[in-house]
Formats: sequence, structure tokens, C-alpha cells
Amino acid sequence: MPEVSSVPAGSQETETQHTKLLILGSGPAGLSAALYAARAELAPIVLTGIDLGGQVALTYTIENYPGFPNGVGGAELGELFQKQAEHFGAQVIFDNAQSVDLSKRPFKVVADNGTYTADALIIATGARPNHLEIPGETELIGRGISYCATCDGAFFKDRRVSVIGGGDSALEEGLFLTRYASSVTIVHRRDSLRAGAILQERAFNNPKVNFLWNSVVTDVIGQEKTEAVKVKNVQTGEETISPTEGVFIFIGHTPNTQLFDGQIKMENGYIQVDNRMKTSVSGVFAAGEAADPHFRQVITSAGMGAAAAIEATSFLQNEAG
Ligand code: NAP
Repeated sequence: MPEVSSVPAGSQETETQHTKLLILGSGPAGLSAALYAARAELAPIVLTGIDLGGQVALTYTIENYPGFPNGVGGAELGELFQKQAEHFGAQVIFDNAQSVDLSKRPFKVVADNGTYTADALIIATGARPNHLEIPGETELIGRGISYCATCDGAFFKDRRVSVIGGGDSALEEGLFLTRYASSVTIVHRRDSLRAGAILQERAFNNPKVNFLWNSVVTDVIGQEKTEAVKVKNVQTGEETISPTEGVFIFIGHTPNTQLFDGQIKMENGYIQVDNRMKTSVSGVFAAGEAADPHFRQVITSAGMGAAAAIEATSFLQNEAG
């Protein structure tokens, strides 16, 4: 991803910057919202959050975003989203919100490098990968434990790696890891996969990929680095030690919405929106994985972002007063 914004971090430490529309998050939802809002001449400000580009920027290839018949790199797609939004006047600032006040307008957001007030707000803060929460996992993050094959796969050239999970992420990332690893063992808690048919077929046909069915990892073993995992068969209760140098965990996501706890209606941590992306607070809209427990695709997040921006534009024209 490119350098962000012409606005240097730290230059607004004591200042409050006001904008008509503030967008929290720089994934497909946030940047699509920014594009639409910029074209409506709202000059929106986007706060990137810690992960510029969101989860898509960490994905090696996206094959199901229309317009790219040969696929497109996740980071490249994020960069294109950003360029297009900036082209029409969106301002993307590398800053991370720490607290929000949605009790009155203008809404107030205090971030690491500045304070922002806004007449309308779009929440597009996305989601983060779940952890297994087993012994050894936290201790060995960065020393064999990873949640991103695109980021860390190259460290595992000619090594054995394990992938945990049976969804699209597990298979897609597991297949990516076959570029480097000598073998990829997919450990799944059931005997059938959740992933889509195309990915399943590719995984079954890849000679480097093998499966441990009905199995869960209960321990990561290693001192300085990951050496093995303890695997339990959930049907027989049998426990085995499986040597592995890398453990890539893809067991779903948790929405990044703690910031809004108690201020906005949520269900299971996901912000509730109506079919116009309106939240329970007038003037606050939400889009993407922070508000979507179901689809969670680049295209659906982008679509939600566009819809949120259209509604925010209409709110600012008609209701904000
Ligand atoms: P997901 O679909 O929720 O799959 C999570 C997987 O982890 C499931 O197989 C689940 O097992 C397993 N799991 C959950 N908790 C576990 C635990 N504590 N221990 C062991 N295993 C556990 O998550 P995802 O694969 O990240 O996908 C998220 C969304 O993004 C989905 O909508 C997916 O379609 C989409 N996505 C799409 C693509 C693509 O289209 N190319 C690529 C990546 C992601 P069970 O199956 O038993 O529940």
C-alpha cells in the first residue's frame, strides 16, 4: 500500500478537525463509502485504523471481485480503492480512533493523532481474526503462529505447516502456503468442509495438502519457536503430537466494534443496520464486516459502503439541519 495522506501524523495533536462526514476504516467498505461521499462533494475524511486497507490488503489474490478476470492482488485492490476515493477529494488519514461520543451531533472521535468532529459518521471498522485461545498460541505469535499466510508464508519455505479451520479462508490461505511449505496439513474439527466447492476441489487435488479430520489443536508446543501441535480427535479422544514449524489459524472473525459498546445497538458484537445502513443513532451508518455477520465478501462490503454513503449524503442534505 502507498504512503497515506498528505496529512502528517501528529500535526493535529491538539486540534479538532471538523468534517461533514467521517468514515472509520479503510477496507472495501470504508473506501467505497469514501468514493461515493467524495463524488457527492462531501470531502469525507477516512481514518484508516491500524490496518490500512483492512483485511483485503492482507489477502494474496482476490478472484471473485468483478472486473478482474485474472484476479487481483488484495493490496493492489486496496490501493486502487484508495486512489479512486482520493481522486474525487476524499482525505485518507493514517489515524486510529480511541473513543467516540455518539450522544450528540456533531459526533466526536478522539484518535491517536487528533480529534475529529462530524455531522455524520460511517462505521466501517471491519473485523479481526479469532484466536484459538489454547496454551502456547499467544506466546508463539510471530514465532510460528500466524493469522496471515500472505504476510508470513514466505518464512516457511520447505517447512511443514498446519492450517486450522475448514472455511474459505483456511483453504485459500492453505493453498497459498503450498507455494512455500513442503506440506500443508489442514486440521478441521468436522469431517466436511465449510469452504466453497472450487477451493475444496483445488485443495483435494493438491499433492502438498493433507487433512486431519474431526480434529482440534489443543496445544502449541515449542519454546523459542513452534515445533509441534497437540491434536485431539474429537470422536475418539485420541491425542497425537504432530510436528510442524508453522500454525496458521483461520477460524472466523470478531467485529471491531468495542469502541461503540453501549452507544449503538449491536447483536453478537455486530452493529445492527437497517436495509439503508442506518444504525440506531440518527446520522450514524455502518457498512462491511462490522455490521455483516453473514456475507463478509469484498463486493458485499464495498456495496454496503456505497449504500451507507448514499444514505449519509441524503441525511446531510435533508435531516442534519
Ligand atoms: P468461516 O467461514 O466462519 O469458517 C471458520 C472455520 O473455522 C469453520 O470451518 C469452523 O468450523 C472453524 N472453526 C471456528 N471456530 C473454531 C474453533 N474454535 N476451533 C476449530 N475450528 C474452528 O470463516 P472464514 O473462512 O474466515 O470466512 C469468513 C467469510 O469470508 C465467509 O463468508 C467466507 O465465505 C468469506 N471468504 C471468502 C473467500 C472467497 O470467496 N474466496 C475467501 C476467504 C473468506 P465449522 O465449519 O465446523 O464451523
